[in-house]
Amino acid sequence: MIFAANFKTNHTRRSTALYLDDLNVKLRAKKPEDSVYIFPPATALDDYEGNFTVGTQNAYPTHNGAYTGEIGLEQLDEFDIKTILIGHSERREHLSESQEKVAAKFSFFQEHDFEIIYCIGEPLEIREKGFESVMQHLLSQFDGIDISYDKLIVAYEPIWAIGTGRSATVEEISSTHRALKEVINNKPLLYGGSAKPSNIKEIISIAGVDGVLVGSASLDAGSFSEMVLV
Ligand code: PEP
Repeated sequence: MIFAANFKTNHTRRSTALYLDDLNVKLRAKKPEDSVYIFPPATALDDYEGNFTVGTQNAYPTHNGAYTGEIGLEQLDEFDIKTILIGHSERREHLSESQEKVAAKFSFFQEHDFEIIYCIGEPLEIREKGFESVMQHLLSQFDGIDISYDKLIVAYEPIWAIGTGRSATVEEISSTHRALKEVINNKPLLYGGSAKPSNIKEIISIAGVDGVLVGSASLDAGSFSEMVLV
């Protein structure tokens, strides 16, 4: 299983270091076949040692240059960061990242051999229209994306389940993952959306779920490690 923690705009450099020290001790009990990814804010990227991979929540598709407020490959290389989250709904929504921009970012980091956790998900009004509309929406988020890329991990994150405390149901996750797995040729597929210690067992036992991308419940090392060690 894959357990990925997305801190979003939470934690500082100092609190991330303390978190990872604590997590490292707790992860001594981790099953060797499970993998843990941590996505701290860009200001907390650093050379951390431990039984986890640190990735970036975002980067601009450039080596360096005049892109005020962004980071590029040069800044990621400093800490040997080779994993990136692309397509998160919060970036699509709040930062107006179009599918075209997301796809350009994907191609750039694919060319640079990054492991990519690529996020897709539908808003509530699409879910309410039924399964066919959901799949149509999700497939449109693969426009311009090379789904045969061997370092691709997809995260299915229904937008209405993110940060709301209301996870998708077992049936919703199961049917969507079954359909997506066919599309992505059985590449690793994570579920994201209000995954937490109380529902993790149920979620990871669903067929077609290869792990979880966790926001709120990952902010505390105790809660996140509880999920990893379930
Ligand atoms: C996320 O934003 O990727 C996420 C899954 O958040 P949460 O766990 O808080 O729903």
